[in-house]
Amino acid sequence: MRTTVGIIGAGPAGLLLARLLHQAGIASVVLESRDRAYVERRQRAGILEQGTVDVLRAAGAGARMDREGLPHDGIELRFARRRHRVDFPALTGGRSVTVYAQTEVCKDLIALQLAEGGPLLFEAEALAVEGAGTESPRVRFRHEGREGRENVLECDYVVGCDGFWGVARTAVPREVSRVFERGYPYAWLGILADVPPSHDELVYARHDRGFALLSMRSPSVTRAYLQVPDGTDADDWADDEIWDELDRRLETDDPQWTLRRGPVTAKSVTPMRSYVHEPMRHGRLFLAGDAAHIVPPTGAKGLNLAVGDVVTLARALILLRDKGDPGALDAYSDTCLRRVWQAERFSYAMTTLLHRAPDATSFDDRIQLAGLDRLTTARSAETDLAEAYTGFPLDEQDRPQQDRP
Ligand SMILES: Cc1cc2nc3c(=O)[nH]c(=O)nc-3n(C[C@H](O)[C@H](O)[C@H](O)COP(=O)(O)OP(=O)(O)OC[C@H]3O[C@@H](n4cnc5c(N)ncnc54)[C@H](O)[C@@H]3O)c2cc1C
Repeated sequence: MRTTVGIIGAGPAGLLLARLLHQAGIASVVLESRDRAYVERRQRAGILEQGTVDVLRAAGAGARMDREGLPHDGIELRFARRRHRVDFPALTGGRSVTVYAQTEVCKDLIALQLAEGGPLLFEAEALAVEGAGTESPRVRFRHEGREGRENVLECDYVVGCDGFWGVARTAVPREVSRVFERGYPYAWLGILADVPPSHDELVYARHDRGFALLSMRSPSVTRAYLQVPDGTDADDWADDEIWDELDRRLETDDPQWTLRRGPVTAKSVTPMRSYVHEPMRHGRLFLAGDAAHIVPPTGAKGLNLAVGDVVTLARALILLRDKGDPGALDAYSDTCLRRVWQAERFSYAMTTLLHRAPDATSFDDRIQLAGLDRLTTARSAETDLAEAYTGFPLDEQDRPQQDRP
């Protein structure tokens, strides 16, 4: 089997890349180790930055998002029984975000790919990337649909969009790899519940008992998270205990506030990690999305970073084909890493501002409260949060002139 761009992984990064390349007339094959139902069910992110929304629309994958997605013009910060709304458009010159689940983004892109795009093989597990440093890299893979036989996909370029646990990253030789990593002593217990959200925007709460986040998937489905110790088993928490704890951590002096409770339909624990692999390219192998970097979910950046990477890569491949100019492809890793580190910085800052570490002292508590006080009283600090939350420019060409180096 032969193609121009071999893509490993059908998460948001791999699926969107295949779509962008298809629109540009560049052939690709996507290999995905799981079956379609699993990929379409996997609950993960749900906040799309303005730039991500624009890219999905331009890719022809925006129709259902525009019908069913929920545009959000702000978030609420809750701490010390206070409520403070951060108004995104007012602080950013009109930018906002959209609540539309990652599962739905994937469903839309899979449907488009199967109807119009190149091959998308489910249950096709990449075993290794070979010859990354040569002109003709290959992906060795096993395809369940072909009785588990081993195959080889020969390519001009290979893109590892296979997430944190994938194989692509291991093809970058150790001597040229650098890893930057940080763990956190807590995790998120997340629930989905069949009850309308208690508030029409996301609520990020800092509390002495730990962080809580109130979110949503649709007008009738609540998504909520509690900070729990790392290693927690979701089944250790009964549904009523989760609602009681959310009620405590979201407490406020506002008498209008009430938490709506409803049947919990899913429960899971997400570990928190910051991770960056440099460089994001080795020879003709490119890494994109979670294969190259992980952020804790507090800043809602993971999915959006994956989109940024593949937009940068698709533009670079198109430039090379149309103008014979390899400049953008050569700069791929540096261009992406600049944005990645901004997202790492923001996600780390939001995480440490809002979560209570197990060894936190009263001094640490006061520092967090002072940080929140500053955010909610100084327009410059609030603007910084709003700009980061609604999204960093996807590429230099999207960056306002005055912000360019
Ligand atoms: C449990 C969880 C909860 C999250 N919650 C949030 C959130 O609330 N907000 C947020 O912004 N982000 C969140 N994220 C992060 C966000 O979902 C990711 O950043 C996003 O999925 C990245 O997309 P991706 O395409 O790079 O990787 P992935 O979505 O991980 O896709 C990788 C794909 O590659 C496939 N694959 C792996 N190995 C192979 C192989 N050897 N061969 C073939 N295919 C392979 C996988 O099956 C998968 O389909 C969460 C992540 C996790 C794990």
